[in-house]
Amino acid sequence: MVAIPFDNSYARLPERFYATVAPTPVPAPRLLRLNEPLAAQLGLDAGWLKSPDGVAMLAGNDVPVGAASIATAYAGHQFGGFSPQLGDGRAILLGEIVDRNGRRQDIQLKGAGPTPFSRRGDGRAALGPVLREYIVSEAMATLGVPTTRALAVVLTGDSVRRETLLPGAVLTRVASSHIRIGTFQFFAARGDHEGLRLLADHVIIRHYPACTGDGRYLALLEAVIAAQAALIAQWMTIGFIHGVMNTDNMSIAGETIDYGPCAFMDTYHPTTVFSSIDERGRYAYANQPPIARWNLTRFAETLLPLLAQDQDKAVAIAQEAIDRFDPQFQTHLIAGLRRKLGLASEEAEDVDLIRTLLEAMQQGEADFTLVFRRLSEAAGPAGDADACRSLFANPSAFDAWEERWRQRLLREAAPAEARQAAMLSANPLYIPRNHQVEAVIEAAVERNDLAPFETLLEVLARPFDIQPGREDYARPPALHERVLATFCGT
Ligand code: AMP
Ligand code: MG
Repeated sequence: MVAIPFDNSYARLPERFYATVAPTPVPAPRLLRLNEPLAAQLGLDAGWLKSPDGVAMLAGNDVPVGAASIATAYAGHQFGGFSPQLGDGRAILLGEIVDRNGRRQDIQLKGAGPTPFSRRGDGRAALGPVLREYIVSEAMATLGVPTTRALAVVLTGDSVRRETLLPGAVLTRVASSHIRIGTFQFFAARGDHEGLRLLADHVIIRHYPACTGDGRYLALLEAVIAAQAALIAQWMTIGFIHGVMNTDNMSIAGETIDYGPCAFMDTYHPTTVFSSIDERGRYAYANQPPIARWNLTRFAETLLPLLAQDQDKAVAIAQEAIDRFDPQFQTHLIAGLRRKLGLASEEAEDVDLIRTLLEAMQQGEADFTLVFRRLSEAAGPAGDADACRSLFANPSAFDAWEERWRQRLLREAAPAEARQAAMLSANPLYIPRNHQVEAVIEAAVERNDLAPFETLLEVLARPFDIQPGREDYARPPALHERVLATFCGT
């Protein structure tokens, strides 16, 4: 065993924050994928990780010296209903290491066996959802969206029982922490103000060190709100739908976390939902900002005892902070969409220009990702928008909009070439299209064929570059390829 320099700050918190538990060994671990660049960033030796000892660690068969090996406690609102006791039911935190950039990172095994928080679950993960999380979280990272990362996938050699028997797998997940809004709710629900304060101070040191002094808990609330406003705006500009925005799936650090039945939208429509368990569309594309604010309100509630002695005063302070979510989110969203449209300057009319395009896309059932990409192509010195226009079922609304956009571009200072280059690096050609993700999973699960997974990862590693021969990865699903529902497979 090589020594991994774990420094487990979370495990130094009081025992009621977690349960110490070892992963349950698996019969026949086989490494399917190692994220070598990420290993290097973490200062971990890829050669060792691929060796039998390394794979034993990634499978949970061997707990390295210095590891914490804990399952953390949390609570959470799931689809609006509160559960005071959730916790890591199938994830075990090996520990924290400080990466090459000086950032503290959690190393967690997801699917590593039962914990005291497993309730009726088996503590395991199926290969399909593990591959989905790997693909989508790495794609998000490449697109510059704050996210947990995927370090490795190990096949366990065991089956897990879901609707059918499926191959089991363990995902090694890396996150700047796994602390959630639900972690705060765990202590608030128990009236454990001491625990809350310890948790808040831990989070401040770890994620928001600029929050200092007597006002530090309000500063923390404001910082978490700001991070989430920026994050959700990024999701919206790339058409990402998380699928299960429960408060236990919302990271305090502002990273995208807990990829379940998530997907990228193809055809633009605000009510798009993929998750099979989201029957009422609570977590539909356009609901993500209000749901984030709702979740942040639950977070603010947990902090009330830390904000002021007087309850009414605490509520007023918290409300004022929450009220700043919408304008912050809007500012980020408009800035992101301006970039996507090649607008470096700001005009008040831009908001309406954006709204009109989205309406035309909805009406014309146009592909969200391709519209922006083809607009980027059309933005060059000699570009025409025919390819973009053809994405709209009824192009007349687009024609009127294009005229307006061209007029607006005339008031931009940058030359067309520079604008086009900026747009081409703001608008991806390749996203993890749901039908491609499903095809990759099917090949791996049904035919034991990992080649499509590897190819898709290669394509998504360069989302802004035209990759000859890989046109198929850029195209929206044909009618018969459309995936209507994704399953979290827990
Ligand atoms: P999720 O929907 O994956 O965010 O999980 C919600 C809660 O259910 C968390 O407390 C998980 O740890 C727990 N959970 C999900 N799947 C399993 C499983 N297979 N075994 C035990 N606990 C699980
Ligand atoms: Mg979760």
